[in-house]
Amino acid sequence: MTSSPILLWFRNDLRLNDNPALKNACELSLKKNSEVICVYINETTKHFSSNYGSAAKWWLHQSLAELDKDLCEISKNKLSQSINFFDGNAEKIINSLCKTYKIKNVFFNRRYELENIIIEKNLYEQLKDNDVIVKTSNGSTLIEPWLVKGKQGQALKVFTPYKNSLIRNHEIPKPLDKPKSIRLLKVKESIKLDDLHLFKSNWMKKFSCHWKVGEKSGIKKINFFLSENINKYELSRNIMGIEGTSKLSPHFNFGEVSPRYVWHKIVDNDYESLSQSKKVFLSEIVWREFAKNLLILFPNLHFKNIKEYFNNFKWEENKANFDKWKKGKTGYPIVDAAMKELWDYGWMHNRSRMIVASFLTKHLLIPWQWGADWFHHTLLDGDLASNYASWQWVSGCGADAAPYFRIFNPTTQSIKFDPCGNYIKKHLPILSILSKEEIHNPQSSKNNLNYPEQIVDHKFARERALRRYSTLKRDK
Ligand SMILES: Cc1cc2nc3c(=O)[nH]c(=O)nc-3n(C[C@H](O)[C@H](O)[C@H](O)COP(=O)(O)OP(=O)(O)OC[C@H]3O[C@@H](n4cnc5c(N)ncnc54)[C@H](O)[C@@H]3O)c2cc1C
Repeated sequence: MTSSPILLWFRNDLRLNDNPALKNACELSLKKNSEVICVYINETTKHFSSNYGSAAKWWLHQSLAELDKDLCEISKNKLSQSINFFDGNAEKIINSLCKTYKIKNVFFNRRYELENIIIEKNLYEQLKDNDVIVKTSNGSTLIEPWLVKGKQGQALKVFTPYKNSLIRNHEIPKPLDKPKSIRLLKVKESIKLDDLHLFKSNWMKKFSCHWKVGEKSGIKKINFFLSENINKYELSRNIMGIEGTSKLSPHFNFGEVSPRYVWHKIVDNDYESLSQSKKVFLSEIVWREFAKNLLILFPNLHFKNIKEYFNNFKWEENKANFDKWKKGKTGYPIVDAAMKELWDYGWMHNRSRMIVASFLTKHLLIPWQWGADWFHHTLLDGDLASNYASWQWVSGCGADAAPYFRIFNPTTQSIKFDPCGNYIKKHLPILSILSKEEIHNPQSSKNNLNYPEQIVDHKFARERALRRYSTLKRDK
């Protein structure tokens, strides 16, 4: 006899491997001989950065389609659509499904954004009152960020002690296998994936030329990176004109691959004996963890300065300059190339992210929140914790921030990290005719180029920023 179905809520964990909520749901379903209702809810959030941005929603659509196929492949009852899609308020939808289908068990993996934490808490209370057992798991980090503490048990707000404590004091759980089979139940209330209208704009169509979405593609990408590139990572990760990094960030953002899976592919029991290049790569994975830790400590970091003395900083709310920055018309090739990369690929190299964020907040003195919101709108990997914490880091107002006097010279950065101008040429083909000496400063070229004048002079901008920052009264 079949007993009441189990509800499994997919969120930012769109994978079969190492998915604790899926694994738990499948195990209980076997034990109870019951079916699993897999649910995805396109939620409406109060703050736009608590949800996926526009570019990310393009990825989300493809990722859900892939997960749907992957679940069908392991489904015992050979359904043609495995996920039940809904649009709206998660609390209401899950409560209503539990009542209609007499569900007694709900499983999901936890999230860390304040809005999501509140939803989880409310849902837990409401379902408990109706005798529904809710089991939540950690499906998106190596270990729960709040378990990583300093020697005195204090929360850690600086990266290096956080990383050291995580690596020295914690064992990273081994990834879980993917379930062999699942008995699915499709409910009549479900709408179709297309009805979620996740991508609306033509701008996103070109992303499909550059990206392959889904868990299977994510795993292929990990394997390629580990066999071809990880040993060069330490040296190549800062060179913008080559494929020196893993480009796994959108896959992580949707939980198509889990950090534990990647960790254990690299760390074969002994972290200390790894090459420096591998350690540097793992360190980047820990930056992602650290950002989640900051989000838990500062739940409003997407709009509030972590260093409160920055609340008195006088920003220039110059919409015309902001527009030029967004469109890649600042007259600094490295900045403009990076902004074109973002628009065309939905992704930007990490070095470029630091350069354009520093340029916006220090050369143009435009509020960091404007830049961060634009990134969130246009990045496929746009993640509340990593994005907003990084913007605060670059601007100087973050917990463990770059010092305010570190003002990147865009031209020097360009010469150092794009020496032959390959990155600039790729994204700004109009400058392709320039020599490698001219390309970093096209205004010095005799060629008649249709390229803008510099929006601001570097020396002037640097001195202005330093003067402005020096007026801040810092905490002791
Ligand atoms: C202003 C700014 C905004 C950013 N916004 C985001 C964002 O919205 N989402 C995002 O995933 N990353 C963000 N980053 C971090 C970083 O730029 C990207 O993670 C990285 O460029 C992704 O490329 P990759 O996968 O090839 O990285 P790799 O170099 O291959 O690194 C592997 C993984 O480590 C993680 N990682 C690497 N660097 C960081 C970092 N500094 N902080 C947090 N995680 C990191 C990512 O998950 C990445 O996929 C931002 C950085 C800056 C300076």
